[in-house]
Amino acid sequence: MDPLEMMYRVLTLEEERGWDNRAVMGGLERMLARWPAQARQQGWPEPLVRRLEDFLRTYPHWPPEERARAAHALWEEIRQAFPHAPAWQARPKPRTPEPARTEKTPPEPQRAVRGPAPARAPEWLPRGPTGLYAPVTALQFVGRRRASALARLNVETVLDLLYLFPRRYDDYSRLKPIRHLRYGEEVTVLGVVKHIDVRESRNGRLKRVEALVSDGSATIQVTWFNQTWIAQKLKEGQAVALAGKVDRYLGRLVLNNPEWEPLEEEYLHTNRIVPVYPLTRNLTQRWMRRLMRRVVPMWAKKVPDPLPAWVREQAQLPDLAWTLQQMHFPDDWEALERARNRLALEEVFMFQVALLAMREQYRKAGARVFPVDPAWLEVRLARLPFTLTGAQRRALEHILQDLTSGRPMNRLLQGDVGSGKTVVAALAMAVVTHHGAQAAMMAPTAILAEQHYRTLQKLLAGPEGPLPPEAIALLTAGTSTAARREILQGLETGRIKILVGTHALIEAPVRFQDLQLVVIDEQHRFGVRQRARLRQKGENPHLLVMTATPIPRTLALTVYADLDLSVLDEMPPGRKPVQTFLLTPVERERAYALIRREVEKGHQAFIIFPYIRTSEHEDFAHVPAALDMFPFLVEEVFPDLRLGLLHGQMRPEEKDEVMARFRDGEFHILVSTPVVEVGVDVPNATVMLIEGAERFGLAQLHQLRGRVGRGGQQAYCLLIPSTEAAAERERLQALTQIHDGFRLAELDLRQRGPGEFLGTRQAGFSTQMRFLDMLNIPLIEQGRTLAQELFRRDPTLQQPEHQHLVHYVQRLWQKGEAEVS
Ligand code: ADP
Ligand code: MG
Repeated sequence: MDPLEMMYRVLTLEEERGWDNRAVMGGLERMLARWPAQARQQGWPEPLVRRLEDFLRTYPHWPPEERARAAHALWEEIRQAFPHAPAWQARPKPRTPEPARTEKTPPEPQRAVRGPAPARAPEWLPRGPTGLYAPVTALQFVGRRRASALARLNVETVLDLLYLFPRRYDDYSRLKPIRHLRYGEEVTVLGVVKHIDVRESRNGRLKRVEALVSDGSATIQVTWFNQTWIAQKLKEGQAVALAGKVDRYLGRLVLNNPEWEPLEEEYLHTNRIVPVYPLTRNLTQRWMRRLMRRVVPMWAKKVPDPLPAWVREQAQLPDLAWTLQQMHFPDDWEALERARNRLALEEVFMFQVALLAMREQYRKAGARVFPVDPAWLEVRLARLPFTLTGAQRRALEHILQDLTSGRPMNRLLQGDVGSGKTVVAALAMAVVTHHGAQAAMMAPTAILAEQHYRTLQKLLAGPEGPLPPEAIALLTAGTSTAARREILQGLETGRIKILVGTHALIEAPVRFQDLQLVVIDEQHRFGVRQRARLRQKGENPHLLVMTATPIPRTLALTVYADLDLSVLDEMPPGRKPVQTFLLTPVERERAYALIRREVEKGHQAFIIFPYIRTSEHEDFAHVPAALDMFPFLVEEVFPDLRLGLLHGQMRPEEKDEVMARFRDGEFHILVSTPVVEVGVDVPNATVMLIEGAERFGLAQLHQLRGRVGRGGQQAYCLLIPSTEAAAERERLQALTQIHDGFRLAELDLRQRGPGEFLGTRQAGFSTQMRFLDMLNIPLIEQGRTLAQELFRRDPTLQQPEHQHLVHYVQRLWQKGEAEVS
């Protein structure tokens, strides 16, 4: 397994367990012997490997909250280096609540772990003589050594530095007399050093500074480990501020490793909300703070604000200079919240503007008009093997309007698995080809393309269909050279009206005579780039993209703001909901018995495992995996049945072949990893057994469940979690009752956070929302409304006050396209 994936699993498991350092037997430190070596082998940059080593070495010594912080911070750094690393899905749940606070402080631990990733300054600024693009070495006190350390945090210029936000903040803003200190609280105390000296541990290897500090109310013992230099700086009789968490030693309250500063200075490390920056080798927290205190007040005001003044006014947002200042040195928690809020809104707003700009561009372009003769349409509908559902009719209505609007259609058809998207697309293609033009349909896998090809043949080229069979062609990587040549020719001459295929469709030699409609199935598998490439095969063709990923509406409007939305929120009649049961591992026999019974009735079954193999990773030995279990299933459980095996490490042709053989009834049971998820139709399959069910999101489980029950018989979904954890059972229980993909998706979103929803592929942007909490629906809506307002005021974005914003958005696009393709 990829070490990245391994780490991700261990860390998320830790998170689930409340950071108890028991996800791995013997503790995470045991991984020191393995992970760093693997990481090096995989070509990780050395500083990152070191970071990993430090992390593993120190992890066991931290309390849970600090482990959480450190793990999230580490993961952020890993994600910077490896953008393909999975985004952290689970929501951080602070384990030990802070001791009760009397002051009104917002819940701090959560804030702490959600600190943003290392610097990524906006690159939209026109490069001018502002000095913001000067290298950090131009700053006083930043020499080459520090500069190269900063470079490891992606900080090269002064501007980058401004955007290197603290990864968390410590609240030392509460001053207390020493006598009133309580165990566990975070405080600042002011006092005078009564005594200070350096002591050695018994073997002489560890040195520590011991001090007694008194403020008149009481005296407290203070210890710093391995920082003997402090004893040079702090002299007896000197007044100091100390900040940290009150600890206990031999029954007395003490301060260990507190932040400190002499009292004559302006407070920086104590007596305030103190920023804690991401660090690497050769950088210290104290140095970073001092640097930031010089740089931020001076330079923050020079960064032009990309948000137009009217937007800030309308949304009551602070300006950028104030925001940057507060991000580094917040006056209080409310100010920090305002600053974050402004950055979050900026994110949604820019993202929306970018998408709307693209949409405006499409809209400006004209498109061919395809009028529909109602009588002709009635005949087409009458000849379908079924009546359309109300939702299908409404979606078709939208599409027909688009096709006659004179502007290119740009529509997302969203519908749960089995809601019948294909037939809607087929009717749209019928309209376009009826007028002599061509249509193309792209699917993510060959087997899916083949399935669509058969469906279209049946619906459009049957004895009563409007097209001859040879007008519909299938093109995949497996198409023979001779057949391919003929297809390419047929497309150029216009003999072929509909081409169905995989991304072979966007390859260079495919040229259409007159491509006017592009349909993309399972849109989430393709990037905007591929969408655009297929589109370029015609001149402003109409575009219909389809997805079964049930994204809640608000989120859909955000992620797909450039698309119009039609939703199939109604299932074809006569569908029996898939009966879903939650079993315990010991009830596995019952699941096997049910599979056997169904197979005896002539049906087929899926058995899904979350992983391909885990046996070499004893840490996950309790989660069953496909390759490990397959021999057992074949030899011990179903020796008399035929089983097929499918997983993500197989080549696409192999996968297609196994899938096709299962579809054709050659296997009774298909053992698979979740690769089977995408829309393949095996109507004869009636059982879906999912092992390690707790490893999946609800939406994904629902997608998997949608693979069965497509043939009209009663179908079953059996969930077997690999642990007995009550919380997991409760989460999974939802599936036994809820059969609506959208409701499940919303639940998922609530439980696991936005995760993949905003993946770069879907959205086509490189931006990750660093500040936006995707559950913050009002903020998302506000961002969208403001972006719409922008286009009302200035449809072409020509006004001078919008120029910064235009730069910003252009950069966003360029980066996004570069990364997606
Ligand atoms: P999806 O939206 O998941 O792509 P499909 O288009 O594959 O769904 O349709 C699923 C099944 O439902 C197909 O077998 C299709 O023939 C059938 N179907 C589609 N629409 C209707 C309808 N209105 N009434 C009955 N069956 C339908
Ligand atoms: Mg489909």
